[in-house]
Amino acid sequence: MIRTTRAPRARCAALCAALALLAAACGKEGSPPGKGPAADRLPHYETARGFSLPASSTWTRARRRGYLTVGAKEDQPYLGEKDPATGTYSGFDIEIARMMSASLGFPPGTIRFRTIASANRETALQNGQIDYYVGTYTINANRKKLVGFAGPYFMAGQSLLVRKDENGIHGPRDLDGRRVCSAAGSTPYQRIRADYPKAVLVGYDTYSVCVDNLLTYQVDAVTTDDAILIGYAAKAPHELKVVGEPFSKEPYGIGVPRSDNALRFALNDALEARQRNGDWKKAYEATLGLSGVPAPSPPAIDRYPAT
Ligand code: GLU
Repeated sequence: MIRTTRAPRARCAALCAALALLAAACGKEGSPPGKGPAADRLPHYETARGFSLPASSTWTRARRRGYLTVGAKEDQPYLGEKDPATGTYSGFDIEIARMMSASLGFPPGTIRFRTIASANRETALQNGQIDYYVGTYTINANRKKLVGFAGPYFMAGQSLLVRKDENGIHGPRDLDGRRVCSAAGSTPYQRIRADYPKAVLVGYDTYSVCVDNLLTYQVDAVTTDDAILIGYAAKAPHELKVVGEPFSKEPYGIGVPRSDNALRFALNDALEARQRNGDWKKAYEATLGLSGVPAPSPPAIDRYPAT
């Protein structure tokens, strides 16, 4: 067990203030997140008229029910964030979910978001708890055995978040003997365990809990995708920084039930159409783009055959 350094009182006071700021920024005060997506600036997505997808059991069930249930994250700034005062979700992933629902013929206001942690995504899709999932979900071969993926719609890479006063961590090799936090069941967590066994890996359900632990000196670094970490750093720029170069490729996909090839194909078509008509870029600029990174060109869709 590695001993953690105790923060001197003054430093703790500053960090507690930062934590409060982060909490406020996350909407605990009922205000929109600072520099976060503004509801009145979000694009409007044209709803497909007369759309029908009888070959998809997921779509058919949702149509009968009258709304889609979509899995998402609620604590990832600019990507998937829930305002606890209003219950409203916002961010790039949320916009992707919305434009997909419009392409599936569901008018605005017919999505119910449901927060699902990284470790529970496959089960939620397998049990039919959600129709699809949009939440920084990396496409990989292992997961493809359990679920289907439309996309990718974005390319991220694993990176490191540290406190501003940390000078010894520049990449994953510097984690030997240091405490590093990630979300259980995530690809970054698995990569540290497999490739950097000398790091002292700490797992929680969510990255926001990892960030709280970083601010209070319980851990030395948080690791996950750069897109996620940039959001936390942007919310506490005086306390946190993202360091080094990304050391993996994390293509984000829309998770669907594995057997529902019809839904996966329809979502691939929809993603491609929304990239072509400019909606993808508009969505990026209204959300993730606010963290300061200009819109990249979206990755090519991986249309793998029916499973
Ligand atoms: N993209 C990575 C994954 O799917 C990390 C982010 C997350 O946990 O959602 O595991």
